Amino acid sequence: MFNKKRLVSGFQEQASFHFQEYSDIAGSKSISTFKRYSMNLHTIESGNFKLDGGAMHGVVPKSMWQKINPADENNMCSWAMRCLLVETDGRLILIDTGIGNKQDEKFFGHYFLHGPHSLEGSLRQHGFGMDDITDVFLTHLHFDHVGGAVKRDGERLLPAFKNAKYWSNKDHWDWAVNPNEREKASFLKENIMPLQESGQLNFIDLKDGEEWLPGFKIRYAFGHTEAMMLPQLTFKDKTILYAADLLPSKAHISLPWVMSYDMRPLDTLNEKRRLLQEAAENDWLIYFEHDNSVELSSLALTDRGIKAGDVLKITDL
Ligand SMILES: [Zn+2]
Repeated sequence: MFNKKRLVSGFQEQASFHFQEYSDIAGSKSISTFKRYSMNLHTIESGNFKLDGGAMHGVVPKSMWQKINPADENNMCSWAMRCLLVETDGRLILIDTGIGNKQDEKFFGHYFLHGPHSLEGSLRQHGFGMDDITDVFLTHLHFDHVGGAVKRDGERLLPAFKNAKYWSNKDHWDWAVNPNEREKASFLKENIMPLQESGQLNFIDLKDGEEWLPGFKIRYAFGHTEAMMLPQLTFKDKTILYAADLLPSKAHISLPWVMSYDMRPLDTLNEKRRLLQEAAENDWLIYFEHDNSVELSSLALTDRGIKAGDVLKITDL
């Protein structure tokens, strides 16, 4: 399904090319070179689930949040699990994997999976198969982000992407495999250990804002969980922040909207303030993993703070 020919023709038709400056210090002179890279992005909807409305909106009263994210009779709201596929220079990088399908009925009974989408189906719609994925980038290892990374094969648990390298970071990994009691229910051993046992696990060792690949920088946030990684992508003439669980939905752009799930809510507040300021000043777009209807939004600097701007889709860019 995915081969070089398709990639080449795909790039001619639709991918964007970028020239990026690289600086190198040689002796006392700074040498700048331009490296060309190409990138294409595909929105991959992996399905919808439900989470408690109160937990998702933290201290915000229901009278406010229910107008935006209406709750069902059990006070649960519906959320997307929206992954992103980055096609760049011969690599197919999947950012997050949704909840997957290997848990038992009792587990899924808590999360009310619904909607027409699945990870495999969405990849197929875009012309890709599971075995085409070369890299799986995991923002963090909570079950709604990493569940689809591992599949059940009879009695065995195996990486769902057999040809992929899986990417986390050491600080987050250590945190996830020795979880605290409050976060333990989000870190399921069956989603995590098979990645290591397969030998497909790799750690990213970069500082905040450093580039992992051309056009693909990594930002860190520590409030939701330890060392969550947010991809910052340069695509066409835009910068897109894949906001993961720092800004799970458009409504969470508002500073006090911090999830009760967060381990360090005041750190989340500061991280939101800082990153949203940088994003708004530089006209970034925010990509929402969990917003049920909004994929992408611009930001507006107003005298009442930073607000959501235009609602977009990747296909609009
Ligand atoms: Zn999440």
